[in-house]
Amino acid sequence: MIKNNHLEKIIWTIFFSFFASAFSVATGQQIGKTEITKWQDGKTAAVSITYDDGSSNQFKTALPIMERMKLLATFFVITGPIKGSVYPPKFVGRPIKNIIAETATVPTNANNFFERASASLYLGYAGTLPYYNRADEWYESGKKEKAYKVMDSLYAAVRNNDLKPGKDTSMEMAQEEGLTWQDLKNDAAKGYEIASHTVTHAHLAILDTANMGYELRKSKAEILNQLGPKYTFSAEVPFGIEDPRVMKYGFPIYPALRNSMPEPWMKEINRGYKDQPGNSDKEYVQWQRGPLSKTPMSLMKSWVDTSLAHDNIWLVLVFHGIDDIGWEPTPHEKLQEYFQYIKDKENDIWVAPFGNVARYVRERMSAKVDSKSTNNKIIVELSQSLDNKMYDEPLTLKTYVPSNWKKVEIKRRDGKQELQTQKDQNGTFVFYQAVPAGGTIEIIQD
Ligand SMILES: [Zn+2]
Repeated sequence: MIKNNHLEKIIWTIFFSFFASAFSVATGQQIGKTEITKWQDGKTAAVSITYDDGSSNQFKTALPIMERMKLLATFFVITGPIKGSVYPPKFVGRPIKNIIAETATVPTNANNFFERASASLYLGYAGTLPYYNRADEWYESGKKEKAYKVMDSLYAAVRNNDLKPGKDTSMEMAQEEGLTWQDLKNDAAKGYEIASHTVTHAHLAILDTANMGYELRKSKAEILNQLGPKYTFSAEVPFGIEDPRVMKYGFPIYPALRNSMPEPWMKEINRGYKDQPGNSDKEYVQWQRGPLSKTPMSLMKSWVDTSLAHDNIWLVLVFHGIDDIGWEPTPHEKLQEYFQYIKDKENDIWVAPFGNVARYVRERMSAKVDSKSTNNKIIVELSQSLDNKMYDEPLTLKTYVPSNWKKVEIKRRDGKQELQTQKDQNGTFVFYQAVPAGGTIEIIQD
């Protein structure tokens, strides 16, 4: 009997050790498994609140509402008219009088249209803005010959002295009255993103390369000098254009144009588009909506609800005027109600400036995460193929740990952090943040 008992014991031991090792292989695969969550803190959707044109009420009225709710946003500002700017509105090219003289004998054509359009607000006359706007409208709707005719009539009026001496600027420039770099510096220090909306709010689609370059590069140089490199990441070319010539020129200057982000893994639905975001199976959908003065609150709220009904939507809201200043102004009471609606859902929505979300999704899509687990420690390595200086938005990592770990210590080059573990259907895990260039991460039972 003793012998039999012994044999039984051996059989059971073999059986158990086989079972246990099979079990540990199964759980071992899970422990240490690390993913980068789609949105910060494992949330369901992202919302970026953005403002165009830098009109003064955006800062006087809308910003304090957001500040009270601790919501961050992006302001695309026109740099030329801001007090203290080094780069003013300017025409770059031949002497204006030579251009005017040439129009007497050479009709506008494909070779000279961009130069004439670029000079049109710098001819020394008032009343030139309507010509410039109309030429752009024809050009962008594909009616180039009509755009050339508009330039012919503008220059004929100038040569005949039909216009009054003076100067026109974009309407948007005047709306920025009172804005200073010091104010913007203070706002940036609070976490708001200040970004470029060119030097003068020009129609870039009808500018020649030299003037398009001035609008984009000098606006960037101004922001770099005044606020630093962090704010030269995002830009919005005025009027939401997607003109391929402008986009091709603008991309090397600004890493992220709100106009167009041609990432293969992101579907982009810009303001004028009617596609529904729920129909895409891409990793991300950037869904831009621009509330106008009469946009009903129920529709604005439905954008938030739709974003929360999926897991891949980045809702980018585009505001212009506030109260009585700016294009299609939104009353501040409406902003207050809408932002409160978003704020109430903050457990599920990541609300962050445009540049932060753009950095996050790009970093996540380029990142590589490796992990190793030993008896009492999990080691995670995070890296990316992007420029670590430009792309420094922390990513949220989710690492599975042994089921009996209640608390963990996360050790990184820049310090330690204690965290509680959480559970989902796949096991026990911990959420923590890490920048791709932050070095090795160690997770230890605490
Ligand atoms: Zn604008």
